[in-house]
Amino acid sequence: MAAGAPARPFIVFDLDACCWLPEMYQLWGDSPPFSQTSDPGVLKTARGTPVRLLGETRSIFARLYAEGRPVGVASRSDEPEWARECLRKFIVDDAGTSMWDVAGKGRLVEIYKGSKTEHFKQLQQKTAVPFTQMLFFDDDPSNIRDVSRLGVTCILTPQGMTAEKYDEGIRAFMSAKERQSR
Ligand SMILES: [Mg+2]
Repeated sequence: MAAGAPARPFIVFDLDACCWLPEMYQLWGDSPPFSQTSDPGVLKTARGTPVRLLGETRSIFARLYAEGRPVGVASRSDEPEWARECLRKFIVDDAGTSMWDVAGKGRLVEIYKGSKTEHFKQLQQKTAVPFTQMLFFDDDPSNIRDVSRLGVTCILTPQGMTAEKYDEGIRAFMSAKERQSR
C-alpha cells in the first residue's frame, strides 16, 4: 500500500446486542412478521414487542452507504430468518435504504452458528479485502477474541454501536495500520 493515509476499513457488524435489542432468542414465544413503526429505529413483532436499533447504528449505516462503502454482517443469531427480516425492514435513510441494502443487498450478510472466524473467511472470499483491512464491532468478548486472531481490528461494544465505540474503532484501525507500515 502506498505511504500516507491508510485506506478506510471494511467494517463488519454483529447484530444482536450490537446493532439492536432484544436479541432474537429473547423473542422466542413471540413471532414475526416484524412491522415498521413511526420511529425508523424501531420495529415491532406481531405481538407488539419493540426491537430497537442501538446507539448510532442507523446513522452509521446511512453514512457508510452514502460514502459508497458496503458493510459486512457477521452474526450467530439464533433466528437467522428473523434477523434477515429485521435487516430488510430497518430503513436507514430518507431514500428507503435498508440495512440489508447497505450490506451489499444481503450479499455480505453471514448469519449462522459456529466460530465467527468462519463468517470472516466467507466475507474475505466475497470481498477480497484482507483481514488487516477490516474493522469489527461485537458485544461478545469471545467473538472479539476469535476474530482478533485473524488480524481484524476488533472493538467490544457492551452498550451497542455508540458513536464513541465507532470512533474508538476508527482510531484503533488507524494505529494498527501505522504499526503494520513501520
Ligand atoms: Mg451480539
